[in-house]
Amino acid sequence: MKMFKWLKNILFKPILDFIYPPICFLCNNYLEFPELCICSDCWSQFKKVEADSRELLLLTDRFRIDGIIDKFTSLYVFEKNGKFQEVIHLLKYRNIKAVGIRLGRELGMKLVNEFSKIDFLTAVPLHKLKLRERGYNQVDYICRGISEILGIEFKRDIIFRTRYTKTQTELNFQERKENVKDAFCVNKKYLGEIKNKNVLIIDDVITTGATITAAGQVLKQSGFKSIFAASVGLASL
Ligand SMILES: [Zn+2]
Repeated sequence: MKMFKWLKNILFKPILDFIYPPICFLCNNYLEFPELCICSDCWSQFKKVEADSRELLLLTDRFRIDGIIDKFTSLYVFEKNGKFQEVIHLLKYRNIKAVGIRLGRELGMKLVNEFSKIDFLTAVPLHKLKLRERGYNQVDYICRGISEILGIEFKRDIIFRTRYTKTQTELNFQERKENVKDAFCVNKKYLGEIKNKNVLIIDDVITTGATITAAGQVLKQSGFKSIFAASVGLASL
């Protein structure tokens, strides 16, 4: 198996690249080494979330009022039908792992500058039925990239979903809040080691913040000191 992989990479990949040169998933231009899946020109066009971005200020205000999420940051502004949405679709529906890991590394570098004393790293989980249906949790890839940069182990089993929730695309903030109420639970095996510890929870795209707040709430109730949250996309409301 290892031999086959080696042969594939050393022998067949250059031949395949010659016949079918790798192209950018978004603009179809040829990729140049070391570009992977998306060209650097496309990456540079995504709108970054800045410290004074309207979307960030609105959400951090909401988090402050709720008192669950203590610190929050995000990487790119997610606009409906925008180019960054295509990136999320590659990750979510086409299992393009490299895109998730790259986003995770970028977010990790932002976290190094903005956050300190992160003890645990986890992801917003999918319900096990959803996980079976999709085959993977796209947020896991992002967390792997973050883990590389921060040097903190990614623990995917800290929280899990206790019930299946319907898709939130068409729901407003109040409806989303209801939809995810009591949807999460903390894994009992961690209860002994989380006192006075800070946890960072990651999602792919955050819109109203209802999901990450519900997940953060069970983390806080179980004894974590601070709940940090971050996402690669921040929806413009
Ligand atoms: Zn491109």
